[in-house]
Amino acid sequence: MTFTPPTADQLLAITVCAGLDELAGSERFAAATPDLVEAIVEGIGAFAAGEWAPLNRAGDVVGAQCKDGTVSLPDGYVDAYKAFVEQGWGSIAGPQEHGGQGLPFTLATAVLETLGAANMAFTLLPILTVGAIEALDHHGSATQKALYLPRLISGEWSGTMNLTEPQAGSDVGALRTTATPINDGPHAGKYRISGTKIYITFGEHEAAENIIHLVLARLPGAPEGSRGISLFIVPKFHVEQDGSIGARNDVRCVSVEHKMGINASPTCVMSYGDNGECIGEMVGHENGGLRAMFTMMNSARINVGSQGVQIAERALQQASAYARDRVQSPRAGSADKAPVAIIEHPDVRRLLMRMRALTEGSRALLYYTAGQVDRGTLGDQAAQQRAELLVPMLKAWATDIGCEVASLGIQVHGGMGFVEETGAAQHYRDARIAPIYEGTNGIQAADLVTRKLAYERDGVRGGELLALMAQIAAEMEDVPEVAALAKDAAAIAQWMLDTASLDDKLAGSVPFTTMCAVAVAGWQLGRQSRASGLDAKIAVTKFFNRVIVPEARGLGSSAMAGAALLYAIDAETLAR
Ligand SMILES: Cc1cc2nc3c(=O)[nH]c(=O)nc-3n(C[C@H](O)[C@H](O)[C@H](O)COP(=O)(O)OP(=O)(O)OC[C@H]3O[C@@H](n4cnc5c(N)ncnc54)[C@H](O)[C@@H]3O)c2cc1C
Repeated sequence: MTFTPPTADQLLAITVCAGLDELAGSERFAAATPDLVEAIVEGIGAFAAGEWAPLNRAGDVVGAQCKDGTVSLPDGYVDAYKAFVEQGWGSIAGPQEHGGQGLPFTLATAVLETLGAANMAFTLLPILTVGAIEALDHHGSATQKALYLPRLISGEWSGTMNLTEPQAGSDVGALRTTATPINDGPHAGKYRISGTKIYITFGEHEAAENIIHLVLARLPGAPEGSRGISLFIVPKFHVEQDGSIGARNDVRCVSVEHKMGINASPTCVMSYGDNGECIGEMVGHENGGLRAMFTMMNSARINVGSQGVQIAERALQQASAYARDRVQSPRAGSADKAPVAIIEHPDVRRLLMRMRALTEGSRALLYYTAGQVDRGTLGDQAAQQRAELLVPMLKAWATDIGCEVASLGIQVHGGMGFVEETGAAQHYRDARIAPIYEGTNGIQAADLVTRKLAYERDGVRGGELLALMAQIAAEMEDVPEVAALAKDAAAIAQWMLDTASLDDKLAGSVPFTTMCAVAVAGWQLGRQSRASGLDAKIAVTKFFNRVIVPEARGLGSSAMAGAALLYAIDAETLAR
């Protein structure tokens, strides 16, 4: 199945939702002129369609393989990664002082969105590297930045993120990997790392010359839980002072997981310090690891939210093409009784319109969030806080809709969707991981109703979310469905702030998160419709307002149902 990059819709979202023209008015982002933006979005589209999309199917069928600690990717992947590095696609938003182009995060978002729509599994490689760059850029020492950032930014080296251990999943604070200070010898001042990490994405592969593992571990005597975690750089190959690659470090891939999807992405069990010689260096302060990791997680969560958009786009394209070709039955009530392409039947139209509305709505939310991140970088603290508020909405809702759209894509294909040849099933299997990793969607929703809901604006507790919903209601006065949803979400937020118990809030957190996300997406789609005047955009937005928004309003009852319903029977009875 060919892939057509969604360039026009991306450019609209970049212009209207991220407000890139305004960003380019700042000194820092002055280089992001409309011409350059267009060149980047079109350029990455051509690259992704030509180089990465054709490998997607082989990635699923052959997958990453691990033999004796070496991980091989399917044919063509290493060359396609080299082309990505040579063309500088990884360096778009990297800091200029370390070889990056210093362009807005919004443009890096467009690059990853396009690559991921072409090949979701493969795009995890640059996504994880971006996270490592962010963590080092914010928390690394000058020496660490000089040593590691240039080659992570160029993509010659890749990055990983090592939190998870068998007993420490959502509960990161339960991790047990240790870091023991080294007092003398050639590695004095560094740490000996020991432990096992599981599910490490691209933990081992041969596409990049070196892999820079960022590993969370505990120092001797560190406090229990998340307060006692520190962050360490553990390179696959030691890096000499002059930046050259040295001997192999004592870290190895034990195995790769056999998964239901994203098979081209090696999900590795990593063993650190089998021979007591795994050397790492600390990033930031003792016991400050979780804070540093949070820097990495914010951008990673946006990029995983983007994966929902990516897989939805790919599934939508595939289903639309199939629906145009597949002929079945006359249109109900037609005079000539001639069979028509299934795209002519009302229910298939409903499926495709729903897929498109969810895809474009989630893209609108993605670029609105990216634009707020960029404003935060320019020093706008209100925008930064808003971006943080939006992150759990984007991560949770966009990844949920990725699954829904991929599932609807199978439905459009009928039986052909259930067999593997068409590729529709791959999208469904690939999509399913995104609501799980990078903090499950349940954890995202909990973050929204606890930490983020409490964000103040103008000294009012909860003011940030209330201000967002008030802005939506005011700007969408002429779209009663969206205005009503924003008011409903604000009322529920107020109930959560004033009355609800912690359990009640958590019980309603997921439906509440969906309501907020749909309100923001509806608002941003409305802005796109007004700005573009495009017939298709107006039609899709109307569908979103009439179908998706009322469904989200219907979640209000579930958001306020409270925890008592859930605990009406004890755990044993529930799990009979
Ligand atoms: C393909 C893949 C790639 C991954 N890549 C990486 C990686 O590169 N680096 C890395 O460190 N990790 C990675 N992970 C791990 C991933 O982030 C974890 O799987 C995820 O955080 C969930 O942890 P868990 O699997 O232990 O599930 P659990 O934490 O056991 O959760 C199980 C269920 O319980 C719920 N739950 C748990 N605690 C709570 C709570 N307090 N409140 C409400 N609900 C709760 C969860 O939402 C979930 O529904 C990857 C995982 C996979 C499958």
